[in-house]
Amino acid sequence: MRFIRFRNIITTLTVLIFFVAPYIKINNYPILFLDFPNLKLHFFGISVWFTDGIFIALGLIIIILVFLWVSVALGRVFCAFSCPQTITINLKNWVKKHTRNNPIAGTLAILIGTALGSFGIVSYFSAPIDILQNIINLDLQANNIKGLIVVYAMITAIALTDRRFCKTACPYAKFMLVLQTPHTMTTTYQFNRDVDCIRCSKCVYACPMDIDLKEGNSPDCINCGNCIVACKNILIRIKKPTLFHFSISRKSFTQLPSIALLTVILALTSVIITLALTWTPFKVDYLPSIRNADFSYYDGDILVNNYRISIENKRDSDESFYLIVRTPLDDINIQSPVYMVPAGSIALFPFELRIPPSVYRHYSKVTFTTYAIKTKEYTHEQTKNIFIP
Ligand code: SF4
Ligand code: SF4
Repeated sequence: MRFIRFRNIITTLTVLIFFVAPYIKINNYPILFLDFPNLKLHFFGISVWFTDGIFIALGLIIIILVFLWVSVALGRVFCAFSCPQTITINLKNWVKKHTRNNPIAGTLAILIGTALGSFGIVSYFSAPIDILQNIINLDLQANNIKGLIVVYAMITAIALTDRRFCKTACPYAKFMLVLQTPHTMTTTYQFNRDVDCIRCSKCVYACPMDIDLKEGNSPDCINCGNCIVACKNILIRIKKPTLFHFSISRKSFTQLPSIALLTVILALTSVIITLALTWTPFKVDYLPSIRNADFSYYDGDILVNNYRISIENKRDSDESFYLIVRTPLDDINIQSPVYMVPAGSIALFPFELRIPPSVYRHYSKVTFTTYAIKTKEYTHEQTKNIFIP
């Protein structure tokens, strides 16, 4: 059946992408990599510091909303197509089916498969070569090996417990009770054709969730389509079509909850695009010195304002900066020393602004401009009040 072929293609693609993604690099980093030691997220060539939390938070919210939008329109298709639990169980069942005569080989294949899956997951947090090296050195203290052991235990438990987790503990199943609307796609039994049913129960045997849709629709249904195919294969012998179908209509996408979710998704996506376009690799703040008494005082007739210049370098390479303070007519043009800020760090530099009487008697403000030396196009400008003690 076309649907099952389509489902298998999507599942196979999901597995392939999952295993291959840690090896596809853009700008020297995998297309998705969570670098916890350096507090960075790499995503398709874009590197975001965890301190740029707004991107990560908005990104996560958008992913969750897309997930909800798909759920409201198409029900639990995620469970049938791409849920790691489904994929693990399907692969385990496939291995079991092909090793029916050799259960030991089957169990070994399952354990090796779950080990490979665990390796794949940890590869999103640690370079695969580092994990391999630590495995070879049996370095049980290494964080990636500790993570690998935990993930391996979890995936093996998932493979061995079959659908028990889906049926009893999966939070998504509970959410679906709230998300499902009368227009959400579900697999439905055609009660008006009940006379065609030969009560073979093939549909129930084929169901991974042990559902009998002849007793009514179920929120546990993951829209896998197995019952549709099982019934089709039986009824084809008496030249009748399957008794199940997906109840999907245009309303699944045009109902109010779907439209509301899509609107929020598009709005947040435009916010994140705007933020990305206005993102700067450096962040500069001109802070008053910590102690008030030191901040503003007279040295003879020179007015002294003491600052701390805070510079955050979000780039992967070190950067040097200098600062120029000016009045509107360039009565003063004071240049700071060069400040070097290592990659991925924030540094504070003291800056003493000495203002002659000719300036502080005529002006109440000065302009601070910070220049990045390597990244020539970067400048940061801010006007500050002159502080009189
Ligand atoms: S009822 Fe049918 S579509 Fe739903 S989970 Fe069972 S087999 Fe899959
Ligand atoms: S597979 Fe079809 S014919 Fe058999 S019990 Fe289920 S609905 Fe009836």
